[in-house]
Amino acid sequence: MPDRDNTYSTNQIKKISQCHSSLGKRTRLASPKLDRWKDLNKAIIDWQNNDALDETSIKVAEENNFQFYDTIQKKILSELFARFRTIYPKRNSNFNHEYLVKEAVKEIDGEEYGLTTHFAYEFEDENHFEYIKLKTAHDPEPELIDRAIITKLKTDNEEFYTAAIELDDLVEIESVENPDEIIDEYFKILEEYLIERQKRNPGKQCDYCDQSSRCGQFPLINADKITNRVREVKISKTNLVKLSNCERRTAWNVQYGLPREDYVEYESESTATKFHQFSQKLLVNNENFSEKENIESFNQLTNEEDEVTREQLFLKYQQLVSQLNNYDDLKIKEAEYILGFTCIIDGKGLRDGKIVDQKVATIYTGKSDLAGRLGKTPIIIELKTRPETPEDLLEAQLYALGASELMKSESEIIVLHIYVSDNKATVKERRFGVSELESAKAKFEDISKKTASWIPFDALSPNYTVGEWCEYCEFKNTCSEYR
Ligand code: SF4
Ligand code: SF4
Repeated sequence: MPDRDNTYSTNQIKKISQCHSSLGKRTRLASPKLDRWKDLNKAIIDWQNNDALDETSIKVAEENNFQFYDTIQKKILSELFARFRTIYPKRNSNFNHEYLVKEAVKEIDGEEYGLTTHFAYEFEDENHFEYIKLKTAHDPEPELIDRAIITKLKTDNEEFYTAAIELDDLVEIESVENPDEIIDEYFKILEEYLIERQKRNPGKQCDYCDQSSRCGQFPLINADKITNRVREVKISKTNLVKLSNCERRTAWNVQYGLPREDYVEYESESTATKFHQFSQKLLVNNENFSEKENIESFNQLTNEEDEVTREQLFLKYQQLVSQLNNYDDLKIKEAEYILGFTCIIDGKGLRDGKIVDQKVATIYTGKSDLAGRLGKTPIIIELKTRPETPEDLLEAQLYALGASELMKSESEIIVLHIYVSDNKATVKERRFGVSELESAKAKFEDISKKTASWIPFDALSPNYTVGEWCEYCEFKNTCSEYR
């Protein structure tokens, strides 16, 4: 059996596969879904281990594990708990919940390493075993690597299920055809990680990563270091914009992770998204983008679109290039460039169930459409197919502050918003020197006072502001119920 330090869970290996740096020491980033999952799990264990009448054991389990939450989260937890009991009523089997794993092992450079898939519960009945994974999210399917390990190590007297509480269903975990190949691929990922543990790979995974304030991608702007005593909250650009209208809406998304009422499984790509994608493809690392032939080559990229869409896309692209042509010595190096920063201020937190003063770090994250250099000056470019809004200034300030650290600029950062329609494009150029960056920093320190005041576990602590934006709010029913 491999040493504990050489054992990696499938969750850890998934993180590693996305970004080496994302596997780090535990931080205090708000992860409400995980906290709720842990308490639900404890309630299920209490209920299973209590021989009293069902009604009593349920009540005791809820009181012991859900009492610190506000009424909304208590309700969510009680509903999930009830669903689990419907999917998996108590039976006369032996129940176990401690360190239930299946482990694939491989030798790397003379040392044994292990990849483990975990289960929440085991039920044993006359030497027949059922292993249960507990999922509270919409997608109950375990990762490929979990399925591969299970397929490889399954014995005849074992069955494996996912209790998918969101779907009210017990789903059998399906085998894979090539478990050894899949396990080998993941051990290769592990080998690469062991060679270069700190390699950073920013991307979508930054949204879910708890190392953002430490990895250097979102540098501290008003402190030298961050410790594990600091509570952390991460705010995406979209949630930052929402925050200027209503604190509760953003808090419910980022601090409390309440279920959204507008959950959409699949959304088709809009013309605006396509315009972004095709333009990015053609502009990045292309020094000839302003040449006529090169502009024409945009049409090759869109050849699978219908005629009307192609024409619209091409018109927009021509407008865009006409604006970029005003900038000599422009080199676009990146698309979907991830940047942001971390701001630490005094706020509130919980210790031993009591509200106490605590430092709070707010990590602001954004993804700019294009980034590069104008001469030596860093430039961030944002493409918009809608008219200008007041929030665009906030977005520019976020990018400028993030870029000033990440792109190592001591002088100036340029942020361009280019507003493109079929027959016109306009540019809003903002230049951020030392004083503009200082005032942006002051503004974000002020905004951070809001996040720093939210009390963990109490989703009703953030203020709310009713306005026209409520109509599009993803929590409008829950919110009106709790006003
Ligand atoms: S925030 Fe992004 S770049 Fe940094 S460690 Fe996490 S995934 Fe990697
Ligand atoms: S419905 Fe309105 S007041 Fe309530 S959270 Fe949403 S935006 Fe805020």
